[in-house]
Amino acid sequence: MNCLEKRILRDGVVKPNNVLKVDSFLNHQMDVQLLDEIGAEFHKRFADCNITKILTIEASGIAIACSVARCFNVPVVFAKKSKSINIDGDVYVAEVESFTHKCKNQVVISKSFLNKDDRVLIIDDFLANGCALQGLISITESAGASVEGIGIAIEKGFQIGGTIIRNLGYRLESLAIVDEMDAEKGSVRFREQG
Ligand code: 5GP
Repeated sequence: MNCLEKRILRDGVVKPNNVLKVDSFLNHQMDVQLLDEIGAEFHKRFADCNITKILTIEASGIAIACSVARCFNVPVVFAKKSKSINIDGDVYVAEVESFTHKCKNQVVISKSFLNKDDRVLIIDDFLANGCALQGLISITESAGASVEGIGIAIEKGFQIGGTIIRNLGYRLESLAIVDEMDAEKGSVRFREQG
């Protein structure tokens, strides 16, 4: 069991409606040492990819993305949630349905910060149905850049996102894959990974 899995068992809270709360160590209060370990692990896994940029989505992906970016010594770009209907031509746009808030957001990235020469590693805290990732992939491809890999801290393997993204042919690495969780018992079962 890796350090993230151990931490989920110790401090994660299983909520109804397939929500796992990790806000005491990952996405509200943040354990920076754990973030550093996560950054180092993604660096090891994608070391052969000549990554030029780390891409994530606000807000909870940003901290992890920064730890990863420090290891690769490249910038982080995060997609901003935008309420504006009149989006100008200087940005790439994608529509993303929020798993936790059940609403649709347009997310945007300035065209200045992503271009056709970029080799992108997409990072996020959770993978559920895959909407956030599909938005980030679509933006990367609009820029003519390449998605070299996708790193997820916690994949909920009982939801469809991981299957969709792997079937599309992307190299997806998740540090912890939760195959089952039960809000009443407070239990979490991880997929064994090699
Ligand atoms: P997806 O787009 O794959 O359906 O959901 C991924 C996004 O929703 C992530 O960026 C994450 O912020 C949020 N999310 C999905 N499931 C969970 C969860 O169980 N717990 C928390 N805290 N966030 C989640």
